[in-house]
Amino acid sequence: MLLKRWRDYWDRHCLQCGLCCYVKTRTLHHVVYFLDAPCEFLDTRAQMCMVYYARFRENPDCRKMTLWKAMWAAYLPETCGYVQWARRNRIRFARRLPIVYRKGSTDFLRPPLMTPEDKPEAES
Ligand code: SF4
Ligand code: SF4
Repeated sequence: MLLKRWRDYWDRHCLQCGLCCYVKTRTLHHVVYFLDAPCEFLDTRAQMCMVYYARFRENPDCRKMTLWKAMWAAYLPETCGYVQWARRNRIRFARRLPIVYRKGSTDFLRPPLMTPEDKPEAES
């Protein structure tokens, strides 16, 4: 019961932006998101997972969002609801890395899904 309440509370922090469902890589100073490489199960019009309740079975590469990641995963965007939650609770310890959005359309990244430090194009 308590566990279910925690899970419900935790899941509510996802803003369903879909950003973590794109291929990404980390450089020394940025995280690069490849917007032309979404997970095959991401509906890119709605930015929603099409297999949400079966996602771990359908996609072995899909990873659960955890408290640890909210605290430490530098690849998560600052706009992620879990990152914001961890910042509010002063337990976000990952280095703050701006995001470079590469290749695909950034149309869906209207504020607040892009911070002022993020860039729509890769730096050469
Ligand atoms: S980046 Fe964060 S808020 Fe966006 S879909 Fe992923 S977990 Fe949810
Ligand atoms: S399977 Fe996982 S990575 Fe793929 S769209 Fe769903 S939540 Fe995102």
